[in-house]
Amino acid sequence: MPDFGYTINKQRVIDLDKNDGQTVRRVRQLEPSINICIGCGTCTATCSANIFTEFNLRQLMLLVTRGETANLRKDIEKCMLCGKCMLACPRGVNTRNVLLAISRIFTENE
Ligand code: SF4
Ligand code: SF4
Repeated sequence: MPDFGYTINKQRVIDLDKNDGQTVRRVRQLEPSINICIGCGTCTATCSANIFTEFNLRQLMLLVTRGETANLRKDIEKCMLCGKCMLACPRGVNTRNVLLAISRIFTENE
């Protein structure tokens, strides 16, 4: 059988009932501006950490919003809290405070 290089994608089901809804509810309380994020990615494009690492703020915010927080603890440590993302955000999301809120919740849950 020839190998055409195609594979079947792994099943990708997002079960919001089983995900970590508690963290996103708490982040929304601590920094309500996360609610107006439109996922445009401007923050990621200007992010200092993104230049040197795989850190992706847009993706991180999306995963937190979905409650997929299992692998984010190590990731969030790459942010240097420089605040460039906050200045660039066209929606005025206080991204720096969002990151601080997530970090605080992770520390509280340790
Ligand atoms: S720049 Fe602002 S609106 Fe765009 S993805 Fe980042 S936080 Fe969301
Ligand atoms: S505060 Fe963090 S996420 Fe925002 S630009 Fe700086 S390193 Fe990137």
